[in-house]
Amino acid sequence: MLAGSVALGATVAAATRQPNILMVFCDDLTIQAISAYNHPLDLLETPNIDRLARQGMRFDRCLVPNSICGPSRAVILTGKYSHLNGFYRNGHVFNGAQQTFPKLLQKAGYQTAIIGKWHLESDPTGFNHWHILPGQGIYYNPPMIRNGERVTHTGYTTDLITDFSLEWLKQRDKSKPFLLMTQHKAPHREWAPALRHLGWNQDRVFPEPATLFDDYSGRGRAEHEQDMTLEKTFTPRDSKETAPPYLNAEQRQAWDAYYEPRNAVLREGKLAGRELVRWRYQRYMHDYLGTVKAVDESVGRMLQYLDDEGLAENTLVLFSSDQGFYLGEHGWFDKRWIYEESVTTPLIVRWPGVTRPGTTNAALVSVLDFPETFLAAAGVAIPSDMQGHDLRPLLQGRTPTDWRQSFYYHYYEYPGAHSVRKHYGVVTDRYKLFHFYEPDMNYWTLIDRERDPSELRNVYDDPAYAGARQELHAELQRLRTELKVPAQDSAESMRPKQAPAPTRKKAGAGARKAP
Ligand code: CA
Repeated sequence: MLAGSVALGATVAAATRQPNILMVFCDDLTIQAISAYNHPLDLLETPNIDRLARQGMRFDRCLVPNSICGPSRAVILTGKYSHLNGFYRNGHVFNGAQQTFPKLLQKAGYQTAIIGKWHLESDPTGFNHWHILPGQGIYYNPPMIRNGERVTHTGYTTDLITDFSLEWLKQRDKSKPFLLMTQHKAPHREWAPALRHLGWNQDRVFPEPATLFDDYSGRGRAEHEQDMTLEKTFTPRDSKETAPPYLNAEQRQAWDAYYEPRNAVLREGKLAGRELVRWRYQRYMHDYLGTVKAVDESVGRMLQYLDDEGLAENTLVLFSSDQGFYLGEHGWFDKRWIYEESVTTPLIVRWPGVTRPGTTNAALVSVLDFPETFLAAAGVAIPSDMQGHDLRPLLQGRTPTDWRQSFYYHYYEYPGAHSVRKHYGVVTDRYKLFHFYEPDMNYWTLIDRERDPSELRNVYDDPAYAGARQELHAELQRLRTELKVPAQDSAESMRPKQAPAPTRKKAGAGARKAP
């Protein structure tokens, strides 16, 4: 019935004014780094992202179904969990033959483009124009793939992605509405700031999170055995003791002029233990937040273009990231956990005439909801096999009484980088119940965020929580059934890597099944 639905959508679309859709999407950007979210540590000012929040709606509990780069992107394209879109973990190859929202928008008359980080291995499908970083991408002088052709650019990647986005907007067919997905590499590891932002903090000492020296007591083996700490996992590349290989001579000079004198303390070898962790935290904040500064400037340039061209009124701007990130909480960087910093991602939506300026929303929403929201905005019928919700009622300022009260989470990438074990669970306003379910790592955790906002105590075996535990188990099972989660993980989910697609079609044609 889908073909009929799309045809109907196209008819509706022709009769109404379809909004343009600008999705500015980051990699590993977390709400602690956005001043619109008013984080108590006040780490960074982001005036342009804040402007978007002042003019639109800020969502405080936007959750991801699988907190890692590639899988989260596959969720957004398809509106489906990993077990249905087939992309469980980084290294897998996205089956571009399946239904995605850009394809549906394209059929409904949209001109579509994706520029920047893609990270799904197969070539993009459903786009009139694509210009992507291969794999993870690099921060300076990036090789890119433009509609199937390999190209190399000189400059800072965040700026280049912005330049290419604006260039595409300028030359687009102005008789059609557009979908533009501007997708930054920043602030992904190794957090290399633009040269103009080196020293941006003027050696301000950043306040430390209360759990920087978490000893993981109160939680189980999985938390003890992860590999994502500033203490043990941080590499010389991360700390900028080693300069990245992709800098040209001029860039390298500016890089060394900043980092070399500040690394002298490391070469002396006197820092150890907590002092070394503290030093690393300061370096990490300078670098990570420095890359966010360029993202903020990019947002400013994009918004300015919409203003200058008179497009702001009829453009839905959505700003988000593939997941959240640890900024030293629990001693960690990286993501992957159902815990709050990684399962929550920023979401700000500005849609003039729909969102009331300066509003906030605390309902449980998800990146899973983006495609349905975009399709609904465009007047396209939502396919019945998508698993999220249309956010329009919330954007209009009313949360339906039957809005979701719980959210299903499932992480698969083990063995894998950072050694976070496989787990699935349910998140509600107050609780998290989750299961590490491998034969050698099998236990349940119950977290009460109301009494334990830093998520430090597993109260699963506390008799006081017997009632909550029972209800959450039932809710988790209900969600697994509703979302069609198989009782056992599929063999496909366990493959660490898939071979890339053997033949690649160019320029978004791609009606071919992945192997
Ligand atoms: Ca990511």
